[in-house]
Amino acid sequence: MFQFMTSTRIVFGEGALQESLSLLNQFGYCVLLVTGRDDERSKPLETYFKQQNMRYQRVAILGEPLIATVEELAVMGRKFRPDMIIGIGGGSVIDVAKSLTAMIPNQGCVYDYVDVVGRNVPLQVKPLPMIAIPTTAGTGAEVSKSAVLQSAQEQVKVNLSSLQLFPDLAIIDPTLSYGMDPIISGYCGLDALTHLIEAYVCGEPNPLTDMICEEGIRRVSGALFTACLDDHLPSRSDMAFAAMLGGMARTNAKLGAAHGLASALSGRLKAPHGLITARLSPYVMRENINVALEVGRNDVLNRYRKVATLLTGNDIADIEQGIDWVVNAIDKLNLPTLSEFGLCNTLFEIVADDALRSHAIKGNPLPLTQLRLINILQQVCHCHRDTDELYIE
Ligand SMILES: [Zn+2]
Ligand SMILES: [Zn+2]
Repeated sequence: MFQFMTSTRIVFGEGALQESLSLLNQFGYCVLLVTGRDDERSKPLETYFKQQNMRYQRVAILGEPLIATVEELAVMGRKFRPDMIIGIGGGSVIDVAKSLTAMIPNQGCVYDYVDVVGRNVPLQVKPLPMIAIPTTAGTGAEVSKSAVLQSAQEQVKVNLSSLQLFPDLAIIDPTLSYGMDPIISGYCGLDALTHLIEAYVCGEPNPLTDMICEEGIRRVSGALFTACLDDHLPSRSDMAFAAMLGGMARTNAKLGAAHGLASALSGRLKAPHGLITARLSPYVMRENINVALEVGRNDVLNRYRKVATLLTGNDIADIEQGIDWVVNAIDKLNLPTLSEFGLCNTLFEIVADDALRSHAIKGNPLPLTQLRLINILQQVCHCHRDTDELYIE
């Protein structure tokens, strides 16, 4: 038995934003528009609101999706009383917009509804209609039921998650990602790939997520470099599609150790989520494969072997070539190291312990010990790569 949930309506394709403007009217007249720093991409929306005599207010999210920002905007939003919230931007923008759909109609504060450092109580009142319009191909938040927020005090990432938080409308228009910086596109794309790989090998896959993951991995393999390095338009479209598939996969299957470690690291490093998971991904694959070999988990090995064939396009690729593909991708996309963001100054034992307590790591196909997680961190951390002893600060 399995179930599958996603956003109520998805409009996908080049020009989808312009084509689906009239769909917004069904949600009302008053819009809270959440954007990133760059307002260029939201111009068609603002033009439409003016034409239609709709009320709207635009707020820009600069940087991390902080809980404090959501609290402030919720106070403003309760006065403005929007009929719908539109988030157009990267993952942080959509996460903040999604949180506001929950917080504006509900009483209390963000901490009442988030996990980890919060009380995690269910939403009492149905969230406002949410329209998600991603401009990067990465998180797949446009088809997920949760928002990731950052607590500045505790330096941790927390989830605001509810079955009621699936967007009512996801507009995925690949033209919005044209011209995006190659490095940002690169780590967002590899984050999407990590969602697809982790969901594919996880402890609770299902036939539908398997199908989704296989197609998603195939698309990333064909399009990642040409999308990021050449801004090749059909490849941008493939990456937007793959990112959406990754969002569906992680929402309906599970994630794994790369996301478990990322959740432990993201509060400590000022590095983007996608860069963290991209850098961790090949070493987590390596560790999972090693453990699977030791304990004879052929089912897990077969899945990693399939990942290798999908990534390389070679039906007889061996399992190592899958890891090599990801390592080569990080290299070719010229991604920064995590050492540049202070990974070397974190205490790996504590990061590993936090990762073991994370929600994501429960999806890992095999249990990884603290020592194995430390081993992964040592390999990701360039300056400690050649030492065998445990890192002690
Ligand atoms: Zn991710
Ligand atoms: Zn280091």
